[in-house]
Amino acid sequence: MAKIFVIANQKGGVGKTTTTVNLAAALARHGQRTLLVDLDPQGNATMGSGIDKRTLKRSIYQVLIGMTSLADATLWSEAGRYGVVPANRELAGAELDLVDFEHRETRLKNALADVDARYDFVLIDCPPSLSLLTLNGFCAAHGVIIPMQCEYYALEGLSDLVNTIKKIHANFNTRLQIIGLLRVMFDPRMTLSQQVSAQLEQHFGDKVFRTIIPRNVRLAEAPSYGLPGVVFDPQAKGARAYLDFGVELIERMRSLDDSRRAESAPADAAPTP
Ligand code: ATP
Ligand code: MG
Repeated sequence: MAKIFVIANQKGGVGKTTTTVNLAAALARHGQRTLLVDLDPQGNATMGSGIDKRTLKRSIYQVLIGMTSLADATLWSEAGRYGVVPANRELAGAELDLVDFEHRETRLKNALADVDARYDFVLIDCPPSLSLLTLNGFCAAHGVIIPMQCEYYALEGLSDLVNTIKKIHANFNTRLQIIGLLRVMFDPRMTLSQQVSAQLEQHFGDKVFRTIIPRNVRLAEAPSYGLPGVVFDPQAKGARAYLDFGVELIERMRSLDDSRRAESAPADAAPTP
């Protein structure tokens, strides 16, 4: 069964798309069958995977309104070696088009059920808002990965996001959990970055990923070549960090699975009285 993660932060420009694209490419490089779902009408994750959003025959939009299956809308990122369900500006209309649909928040979840067995990881890139699109992402996912910059306002935004996730957990998706916070665009020379980073560790403990993604210009240049950063320049600091992050995530999933198995084992093994 695929692990489905939504990469979310309602704040704009914090590194959601860069994280989704590079994590997808890193997981693929580590041998994981990976699918990226672009849920943002900006289509940046589509373009960053080397797929032209202007010439799409099918996209996530048609999937959400039930015009095509998710498998039929899936393209292949030659550069990243992962599947992509692409998006473009047409997706901005989905919000209105879905108004009359029943269970409109679970359209993506239902569409993904058909391809579940084909992938190890599904990563969903969200727009910077809590729209019906983002809600579809949250309802489809097992977990949330939150990329964040270590600056003062990030902490304020984080408590809003955590409250939103709690509400979604209570009302829509009880399997949803925060997988972890990922520090991105990190500048170790800034005292504030160090302070915020330490505060995060204090508050959230092991929910903060060990890996830190540095600010690195090669990551910002890569999309203009239609390549994930980890493919564009695998030796660059940013690329290496995302490759490490892929390993950390795979390990974290294994230890979560192991502890779940250990929790259920004693009950299974208990002798019958
Ligand atoms: P939006 O909210 O608009 O969807 P986003 O959260 O997806 O934005 P990105 O598009 O990933 O954010 O990143 C915003 C900008 O920062 C982009 O120009 C990107 O290239 C750049 N960027 C992201 N991560 C890094 C990094 N680690 N080092 C340098 N630049 C980065
Ligand atoms: Mg984005």
